[in-house]
Amino acid sequence: MKKPLLEALKDKPLLGDGAMGTQLMLAGLEQGNCGEAWNLSHPEKVLAIQKRYADAGSDCILTNTFGGSRIMLNRHGVADNITQINAAGVRIVREAFQSVGKDGYVIGDIGPFGGLMEPYGEFTESQVRDAFTEQAAALMSAGADAIIIETQTGLEELGLGIQAATDAGCPCIIGSMAYDVTLDGSTFRTMMGIDPERAAEFMAEHGAHVVALNCGTGMDMPHATEAVRRYRETTGLPVMAQPNAGQPKLVNMKVCYDETPDQMVKGVVPLLDAGVNILGACCGSTPDHIRAFRKAMDQHLAAHV
Ligand SMILES: [Zn+2]
Repeated sequence: MKKPLLEALKDKPLLGDGAMGTQLMLAGLEQGNCGEAWNLSHPEKVLAIQKRYADAGSDCILTNTFGGSRIMLNRHGVADNITQINAAGVRIVREAFQSVGKDGYVIGDIGPFGGLMEPYGEFTESQVRDAFTEQAAALMSAGADAIIIETQTGLEELGLGIQAATDAGCPCIIGSMAYDVTLDGSTFRTMMGIDPERAAEFMAEHGAHVVALNCGTGMDMPHATEAVRRYRETTGLPVMAQPNAGQPKLVNMKVCYDETPDQMVKGVVPLLDAGVNILGACCGSTPDHIRAFRKAMDQHLAAHV
């Protein structure tokens, strides 16, 4: 029996995974189509991606369920399959770990519901609460080891996600904020104006077990390192970081992230020294980035035990 994730984090930092969306596109998913539905319609393609992350050395892999809440699935007309889509997301990661003979951690992924709540938008708080509760229950019933509420910008939605995961009996709840570097480059905060200190305090108060950051704008490895330091100064909770592959660039009117594994891996040791407990990556990252992270982490840890 492997240790619960929170226990394992006390021993050493763990490696997460890289981007899913761009990998799905490479596998043939068309822009605007529902990647989560592929857990049922093209499970072999999703499995192939998750296997590449497992093979690259990930200890923790996120399920392909970022948009797996009822509100998100409704936009594609596939909400009837919500339980099966989320359960398949968990099963596929488990199978990917098995294929490389590793008993890794399956992190159930809950992304933003994709709209605004009243009074700014058309969704009521209870609709969002119900959507997260349903998704968290589906992920936990399927055997997820943890749940991450990710790419969050406001505390209200984050709080509903944490509550949903708590109600589902989740033993390891990760709250992950998407920060944007300010125009003058001096600091970063979410689109809703939340800084890392406020986010960490909120998560500790509301029962999250790990404070995290992912994605955002301009949040490369050095900025993620700074965010980890600020989390560490605010809370004793473990910290997870999934930075993007460098700074965003505009190519053919599309935002892309193109830092190579060799460039990005330079930021691994500073992140470990800052005290990151789970290190993965977000937009623009690939299994090759994760493989480079694995090597750097192993070398660093071997030299410091
Ligand atoms: Zn991202």
